[in-house]
Amino acid sequence: MVKREIFILKTGLTRCSRCGEDVEMAVYVDYMGRWLCKNCFIEFYEKKLRNTVLKYRMFSSSDLIGVAVSGGKDSMAMLTALSKVFPDLKIKAIHINLGIGDYSRDSENAVRRLCDQLGVELIIYDLKKHEGFSLPDLMKTAYRKRICGACGIIRRYLLNRIAWENGVRVVATGHTLDDTVELLFELYLNGRIEEIVRVKPVLEGGERLVKKVKPLIELTDQENKYYADFTETPYSEFECPLARGSRMLKRKELILRIEKEIPGFRHTFYKSHVKRFLPKLDGLIRRPELRACRNCGMPTIGDVCSYCKLVSKVLEVVKG
Ligand code: AMP
Ligand code: ZN
Repeated sequence: MVKREIFILKTGLTRCSRCGEDVEMAVYVDYMGRWLCKNCFIEFYEKKLRNTVLKYRMFSSSDLIGVAVSGGKDSMAMLTALSKVFPDLKIKAIHINLGIGDYSRDSENAVRRLCDQLGVELIIYDLKKHEGFSLPDLMKTAYRKRICGACGIIRRYLLNRIAWENGVRVVATGHTLDDTVELLFELYLNGRIEEIVRVKPVLEGGERLVKKVKPLIELTDQENKYYADFTETPYSEFECPLARGSRMLKRKELILRIEKEIPGFRHTFYKSHVKRFLPKLDGLIRRPELRACRNCGMPTIGDVCSYCKLVSKVLEVVKG
C-alpha cells in the first residue's frame, strides 16, 4: 500500500497554539485560524466528537450502534474515533458494496482493513448479489440523470433495513459539517421546508425505522482528513466515478470559496439553522404519517416506498 502523505501545511518549527510547543509538524484548522500539533489535534477532534454525541444525546456509552462506513475518509475517521472515545460501545460496522468497479472494490478493502485493525464486527452487503442490480445498472434507466439522488435512496433504505434486521436501533453516519451546509444551501435556496426540518444531528426512529445520528455534523471535511491521516486510519481515496462533476461537488467547492471570504461561514450557517430556524420550523411542519410499504413492509409515506419503485424499474431493464 502506498503510504499517504499527511497534509502538512507548515514544516520547520511551528508553535502549537494549544500546547505552546514548537513542533516539526502542524496542521492549520481553517475556521479557527490556528495551528495545532498532531497530539493536540487528535485530542481536539475527539473532544469535539464526544461533545457532539453527548450534547444531542445520540447514544449512551455502552449501547449497541451501527456505524455506516463507505470506506471514505469521513466515516472511517468516525469509526476510529468512536471506538476510541467510547470503548464500551458495541459497534456493528455496515458497508454496502454498490458494485461501482474499482471504486467499490477499494472501498470494501479499506473497510475490511480498518474493522480488522479495530476488532469491530463488520456486515458487508453486496448490492448485486442480494438485490440483483448494481449502481452502474441505473445508468441504463431514467435515474441516470439523478444518479446521486437515486444512490441516496438505495443507501438510506438498505442501511435502515440491514441495521433493523441485525437488531441495531441506532445508526451513525459520517455526514460532516461541509455535507450539511451544502445540503442546507440547496434546500434554503429552493425553499424546500419539509426537507429543511429533517436536516438535524438526530432523527428519531420508530417501527422498523432506526434512529439516525451524525456524530461528525460539527466537524469539517478537512478535520476528518487530518484525523484519519494522524491516526493512520486506512481509507479509500478513490472518488466515485458516477458523482464526478455533480452539482453537489460544485456546491461544496463554492462553499469553500465563501468560507475563504467569510471565515466561519459554515459554522454560522449551521448554528443559525439548528438554533434559530429548526425550533421554530419544527412546530410548524408536521411530520407525515408513516405506514408500511405494500411491497416490502418498511416505513414509507406513500403506498409503495421509493426504494421498491426504483427496484422494479431497474430490474425491468437489467432482466431485459
Ligand atoms: P455520502 O452521501 O456519500 O456523503 O455519505 C454519507 C454517509 O453515508 C457516509 O459518511 C457513510 O456513513 C454513509 N455511507 C455512504 N456510502 C455508504 C456505503 N456504501 N455503505 C455504508 N455506508 C455508506
Ligand atoms: Zn418498499
